[in-house]
Amino acid sequence: MEKIICRIKERSWLAGRAARKMDSARLAMVLGRTIHLHGVNRQAFLADVAWLRHEVCHVRQFRSYGFWRFLWLYLLEYRRRGYYNNRFEVEARLAEKDEEMLAGVEIE
Ligand SMILES: [Zn+2]
Repeated sequence: MEKIICRIKERSWLAGRAARKMDSARLAMVLGRTIHLHGVNRQAFLADVAWLRHEVCHVRQFRSYGFWRFLWLYLLEYRRRGYYNNRFEVEARLAEKDEEMLAGVEIE
C-alpha cells in the first residue's frame, strides 16, 4: 500500500488568515501534504477523526493532481461554486465517513 506522510503545522499564519476570511474560529487548511491549523491544537485535531479524514482527503487531492494544478483547479472551483459546493469540498465531506481514508497515512 502506498504510504502518505502528512505534516501538521499548528498556529499557522496562513490558516489564521483563512479563518478570518471565512469568519471561523477553528480552521484547517491543506497545502501539499501539510495540514495548517488555526484555533485548534494538534491533539484536538487528531482526535476528531471525521475532520482528520476530510483534510487527508485534500492531501490526497494534492497528490493526485499535483501541487500547482490542484491549487489552480481548487481556485477555479471556488470561484465558480464557492466553498461548500466546490467538488473538492464535496469529495472531502464524503471522505469524512470513509474508513479507508487514513489507510497508509502517517502523521509526522
Ligand atoms: Zn475541505
